[in-house]
Amino acid sequence: MEKKCKNKKCQRHLSGGYKHKYCENCRNEHVKRIKDAGKTALGIAVFIGGTALTIVTKGKINPKK
Ligand SMILES: [Zn+2]
Repeated sequence: MEKKCKNKKCQRHLSGGYKHKYCENCRNEHVKRIKDAGKTALGIAVFIGGTALTIVTKGKINPKK
């Protein structure tokens, strides 16, 4: 049975004992993309968290009134 990389743009042949659905190259690309997505998500989380913190801090300027 012939195995091919699942990436439609790649279709590279995979050796018989290869355990993964994607070739080495595509797997590396995938990992890179996940890491980039993680960085972006973290950046957004920090941005939202910072904004939320600013709102909360402003709300506590006059706590006793
Ligand atoms: Zn591939």
